[in-house]
Amino acid sequence: MNKEKLAIHGGQPVRGNILPYGKQVINEEDICSVIEILRSDFITTGPTIEQFERNIAEYTEAKYAVAFSSGTAALHAACFAAGIGEGDEVITSPMTFVASSNCVLYQGGIPIFVDIDPNTYNINPALIKEKITKNTKAIIPVHFTGQPVDLDSIMKIAKENNLIIIEDAAHALGAKYKNKKIGSIGDMTMFSFHPVKHITTGEGGIITTNNKDYYQKLLQFRTHGISRSKDFFNHGPWYYEMHSLGYNYRLTDIQAALGISQLKKIDSFIERRKQIANFYTKELKELDEIKLPFQDVNGDSSWHLYIVKLQLSKLTANRKEIFEAIQKENIGVNVHYIPVYYHPYYQSLGYMNGLCTIAEKCYEEFITLPLHVGMSDQDSEDVVKAIKKVLSFYSKTNR
Ligand SMILES: *Cc1c(COP(=O)(O)O)cnc(C)c1O
Repeated sequence: MNKEKLAIHGGQPVRGNILPYGKQVINEEDICSVIEILRSDFITTGPTIEQFERNIAEYTEAKYAVAFSSGTAALHAACFAAGIGEGDEVITSPMTFVASSNCVLYQGGIPIFVDIDPNTYNINPALIKEKITKNTKAIIPVHFTGQPVDLDSIMKIAKENNLIIIEDAAHALGAKYKNKKIGSIGDMTMFSFHPVKHITTGEGGIITTNNKDYYQKLLQFRTHGISRSKDFFNHGPWYYEMHSLGYNYRLTDIQAALGISQLKKIDSFIERRKQIANFYTKELKELDEIKLPFQDVNGDSSWHLYIVKLQLSKLTANRKEIFEAIQKENIGVNVHYIPVYYHPYYQSLGYMNGLCTIAEKCYEEFITLPLHVGMSDQDSEDVVKAIKKVLSFYSKTNR
């Protein structure tokens, strides 16, 4: 056993403090813009929300945007606007956060999981057709890790079968498909502003769309299903009507101010993420024990996550042992994601293991490396050093 190997059990870790896998970057300018709103007349449902919506619509090249209290609330609203109801089937990927399919359940619909492509880890369009029934209403493709799904194929299937496309772009603000920004391609697109995502509002999300009818439904759903149309004016100036069962899913102006300020930096944020991803790829590409993220030529990823896939046949340990060894080096690795239908709640609904075998196998092999704008060059070097150290320790070829 060489010295490097001995160091793993008992030696000094690569770094002294834990590096998180994801984290927001908030500067003085962000803080000042929030304070400005705190001193203003409107702290919720004021002009700052509308400004944020306009800015996101402009950035994503969509006609309309409606902000929500979370990405999950936004997905719920999109399912409502799409008319998803009792017994309607909605196709999505199992390799995602539970919110992508929970939103279907909220509306009484049935999530139908379609397995992923073994290279991109995105939903495999070739497998969608066989899952379409007379009850299928929509597809929720997830741009996993920030890499756009094969939208041409999915749009074609949707058109042929009269299905609505709600893109889960929680990972993909600023990503491009065939040189077009994600946000105006499908019927509706959801972005999340949770702190680990590209820009943050603390909690928050948005739907972009080019469809005016969806736009109006989304606005109504966000505020109790209430309408304040000019048509009601003869009833009196106080008058409003509730037309559907909506929620209070509003974002505050305080949060929107943070979002506006964060969005100004999106280009440099994405650039920095790409730099780190490219550094990982350059430094790790010689290692036989892992497969690095494959990038489809039609997509331009915004790099929310950098996932390495362990080649377990070349390793003497499983993912758990390797994960823990990397963690001992103070590298905050993570796993994205547990296949959605593995969760006890989904199992209680009757979903069974074995449904999507590629996603299940990937789940045994995935490790997410830290990737965020606040990382220094030293941080990314530490990640590479730790990965090399641990993989060399557990490598069968014993480099
Ligand atoms: C973060 C995320 C969501 C939900 O967003 P929230 O803003 O946290 O509610 C949905 N889908 C995916 C894939 C996500 O990563």
